[in-house]
Amino acid sequence: MGLRPRNAQGDGRGVSENDTRKPLTKLAQAGRRPEWTGMPGQPGGIVSPPVWRASTILYDDVAHLRKAAATSTHERLFYGRKGTPTAWSLADALTELEPGADGTMLFPSGVAAIGCALMAVLKPGDRLLMVDSAYDPTRNFCEQVLRPWGVETIYYDPTGASLDGHLADGPIRALFLESPGSLTFEVQDVPALAAWAKANGVVTLIDNTWATPLYFPALSHGVDISILAGTKYIVGHSDVMIGSVSANADWFGRIRQTAYLFGQMVSPDDAWLASRGLRTLGIRLAQHRDSALAIAHWLKDQPDVARVLHPALPDCPGHDLWRRDFSGSTGLFTFILNGDDEAARAALIDGLSHFGIGYSWGGFESLALPVDPARYRSATRWDAEGPAVRLHIGLEDPADLIADLDAGLARFRAVRDGGRA
Ligand SMILES: *Cc1c(COP(=O)(O)O)cnc(C)c1O
Repeated sequence: MGLRPRNAQGDGRGVSENDTRKPLTKLAQAGRRPEWTGMPGQPGGIVSPPVWRASTILYDDVAHLRKAAATSTHERLFYGRKGTPTAWSLADALTELEPGADGTMLFPSGVAAIGCALMAVLKPGDRLLMVDSAYDPTRNFCEQVLRPWGVETIYYDPTGASLDGHLADGPIRALFLESPGSLTFEVQDVPALAAWAKANGVVTLIDNTWATPLYFPALSHGVDISILAGTKYIVGHSDVMIGSVSANADWFGRIRQTAYLFGQMVSPDDAWLASRGLRTLGIRLAQHRDSALAIAHWLKDQPDVARVLHPALPDCPGHDLWRRDFSGSTGLFTFILNGDDEAARAALIDGLSHFGIGYSWGGFESLALPVDPARYRSATRWDAEGPAVRLHIGLEDPADLIADLDAGLARFRAVRDGGRA
């Protein structure tokens, strides 16, 4: 394999249009530029860019220092806050995976990435349309940072049915999507929403953490800015917090400048671990997908399960859109129990032996979480037959996980029916 710079300038720009490599090939090759894996004047190179730890960068003389300060610091050693090749390699790899992206900035968490992307596109007086099924901390950022700053957030139905009505009340600056939605997994018509936004001069951002660009290349579907909580599937091992924002040529400069102004950066060790995770994203996602699908189908047939909210199942809202736009599903979904009984749900979860109880997801290990979507709704109503459990299906054998859930449903039944008797 030739370890070439990505284009003649070696600045990582402008190659995505003629890049015919498939995503799995990109995962193996991306971000491995010779200047990051070799030593000048020496033959050969190592496979993965190493951890470059730095705050101070030393210059040869005053003229060199002045020249460095006067030129772009993008992917150049300048000062530790602007990163080192370890972070640039990861950012570059994420750009390669997102056709249409001009560049990627990294952040210390997914929430930091969401906040900075919103601050980059909005200013006081602007109005933001936020999907009602958004990740709860995204809503908190809108209410507790953007609103006091003078930005109005309007929550919209994930189907997008009411968008023209909101436009009638005044101009909209930005449309934020998350598809499928957090907790409830509604799939949005991203191409239609992006086209609507383009026609109305509205910038589009998406939280694409669930699918990753591997299963849903968001910029190819018309979105301007794509955000990942890399903490989840990019890292894949539940041991690093990291976030990313990839943007098209219209927006990348603004995203980069805002990230610099806020002093946002990631530690080289965290970037390195995320890069290591990225190499196996393809095979991990395929296993998460297959195991989660098997378990979702099994759950759907259980009499104590009212509904399974999984985009690849036909009764998930937006399933047809998922089939049209996505090339895969991943390991995270929710199921609704029959019978409104909190204690019974806790009995189900507490006794599981193969599922951890905890926030986050995307690691190799399975997790179960009680979720209450109705708390995080304002534009739409969330009604369900009973309490909800969100599962992240890890890389364990799905037969073990099904047996564990089967025993859990028996505990649910015992507490629910015992309580009623
Ligand atoms: C976890 C998550 C985030 C936030 O990521 P952190 O790295 O935990 O800050 C954002 N969006 C979605 C959909 C998530 O699940």
